[in-house]
Amino acid sequence: MDTHRHLEKDVPKNREVLPMDSSVFNPYHNPNEVRKFNIQRSQLLIDDEVELGSGNFGCVKKGTLKTDSGQYDVAIKVLKSDNEKLVQEEMMREAEIMHQLSNPFIVRMLGLCKAESLMLVMEMASAGPLNKFLSNNKDTVTVEDIVNLMHQVSMGMKYLEEKNFVHRDLAARNVLLVDQQYAKISDFGLSKALGADDNYYKARTAGKWPLKWYAPECINFHKFSSKSDVWSFGITMWEAFSYGGKPYKKMKGPEVIRFIDSGNRMECPPACPERMYAVMKECWTYKHEDRPDFKKVSESMQSYHYSISNKAKLEGAAAAAEPI
Ligand code: AMP
Repeated sequence: MDTHRHLEKDVPKNREVLPMDSSVFNPYHNPNEVRKFNIQRSQLLIDDEVELGSGNFGCVKKGTLKTDSGQYDVAIKVLKSDNEKLVQEEMMREAEIMHQLSNPFIVRMLGLCKAESLMLVMEMASAGPLNKFLSNNKDTVTVEDIVNLMHQVSMGMKYLEEKNFVHRDLAARNVLLVDQQYAKISDFGLSKALGADDNYYKARTAGKWPLKWYAPECINFHKFSSKSDVWSFGITMWEAFSYGGKPYKKMKGPEVIRFIDSGNRMECPPACPERMYAVMKECWTYKHEDRPDFKKVSESMQSYHYSISNKAKLEGAAAAAEPI
């Protein structure tokens, strides 16, 4: 990829260009080529042997999508055929949200296939959920890898913030990995598109909510915004830097709420760099008005990420220059 032709403005002169400086960064294939809303059943090969995951809607299977431009590995969310209309509508809403999004750090929806069951066809992120990947690969994943992955998540979330979408379920379990170097945000089941004049979504009733990931205003006033996604990003960072650890240990939801209201926050995970813990704590600013937005959070992630990759490069160059 020619990164030099599509440079972002803010690359400092004294360092090398990194792939992410490019506005077209996407080391994965370009699924836009095959982006269609309606997929024919004859275009899909479903591997019944491999189940990637499951939920109350049904299961996610591995498959292949055949198109004029080639074959692609895909993940297929298959709705259980006996599922009620409500679940079907939920899946259609998720598909509608995903259809409006196009960003390298967000799982792309390739289309819907209506056949023996309703199927949501997505690009494949074969290394699976971030929390599981990190707890299974503690010895090989470096802190720099985690910084890189969380920087990518912050860029995907900045894109969502710009498009006025709230995710409402950002957590390490919903960040999927293509590989150790490449993360994508997934699971738009709870997501909402905000109206042009709104900056938050008000839920009428509380549902089965991931309370440990939710900001105080979500729990107290049912108000969801990009700023409440920022709080969840902080929890996701904590999970990542603790290599898939469970936030707030054994505390139950109400206990966590009291803990936060009394001004407490989770401690810095052992492997986590101080500057990354500082970002987490900013994300956990009680009042959403005072909390940074994703524009600010992604700038902090970029500046730290680039500072450590530059340092590694300089150290490498110094070692190579040393006489033997
Ligand atoms: P979800 O209901 O969207 O959270 O999906 C359930 C599980 O299916 C996830 O935790 C993943 O393990 C797997 N999965 C979902 N989407 C994909 C994808 N695009 N690529 C690979 N695995 C996926």
